[in-house]
Amino acid sequence: GVPLTDEAAALAGPPEMKARLLANENPFGPSEKAKQAMVEAMSTSYQYPFMYTRELVKKIAEHEGLTPEHIMVDAGSSPLLQATAIYYAQKGGAIITGDPSYRDLPDSAKDLNATIVEVPLTKDYKLDLDGMEKKVGTGTALMYLCNPNNPTGTMLDTAKLKAFCERVSKKVPIFIDEAYIDYVPDPQTTTMIDAVKKGQNVIVARTFSKLYGFAGLRVGYIVAQPETIKLLSKYTVGGMSISAPAIHGALATYQDQAFIKETLQKTLASKQFLYETLKKEGYEYIPSSTNFVMFPLKMEGKRFVEEMARRGVGIRNWKFNNQEWCRVSIGRMDEMQAFADAFKQLS
Ligand code: PLP
Repeated sequence: GVPLTDEAAALAGPPEMKARLLANENPFGPSEKAKQAMVEAMSTSYQYPFMYTRELVKKIAEHEGLTPEHIMVDAGSSPLLQATAIYYAQKGGAIITGDPSYRDLPDSAKDLNATIVEVPLTKDYKLDLDGMEKKVGTGTALMYLCNPNNPTGTMLDTAKLKAFCERVSKKVPIFIDEAYIDYVPDPQTTTMIDAVKKGQNVIVARTFSKLYGFAGLRVGYIVAQPETIKLLSKYTVGGMSISAPAIHGALATYQDQAFIKETLQKTLASKQFLYETLKKEGYEYIPSSTNFVMFPLKMEGKRFVEEMARRGVGIRNWKFNNQEWCRVSIGRMDEMQAFADAFKQLS
């Protein structure tokens, strides 16, 4: 988890920032419908949220063609990643993950003495499924895949991943973090929830934090076999931790096609503008399937972040493959313009 240290607060950035492009949030959300539902829910929020939580689980189950027993909701996907980390760490064994990838689950497991096996990405910055499969052994507790991958924004080939799940889940459980899958053209056919439907030992994590703009409201869920849900539910308070207004907001915005379409259009326009800015300044970038873009820097990452922050623009840096990288989240057009203005001064 994120401790409430000064460092964590610094990462969140000062509120007066011109462009907040550092946490892969969606500034086009929450939707008007969600906001209205949350305001209306305030007057009954003296009640515990159980029945509404149950309604959300049902709605998700119906949409995915599964039973409520296949679903567990929580305050964002982070507590569910954490519960998974605790369960598999205490079972003992190694967790296989990509590098670089989202570190939350592996880091939590590492704190509990699990062994973490990191497999570098392929040349095109995707998770190396073949390399990861080769690492599977008798001591493997879990495979963690972030698809699309954070921080690279790359997406695995769906047919290849489906075959991988079918084969590898017979040996080890596979956790697929799909926080950004709502941004790909057809999430319903690319999600590995299909593998869960087929009875495979696959856990899929989803969140309202990204496409629905709920990062500050906290709603997420996992989809898995009912026996896995039962095991993991022992390590989190689950539905009890989501506030009733947030649940009402989630119910109002889930699968709201008009809002989804508008958000995707705006995100795409801002992303296109960012691509053009980078090209104009002579920079390359990794084509992204998500609401963030990774590109190689020509200066030290830490200094770049500081210089951009001085100009009111929050972004993040990485170092891998002996190269300094910057990850820019996709924001409103005025934020992308602020990025472009500051970037021109430094490139
Ligand atoms: N998974 C990935 C890949 C993420 O990038 C994030 C947040 O940035 C999360 C999970 C956690 O999101 P939340 O707890 O808001 O659902």
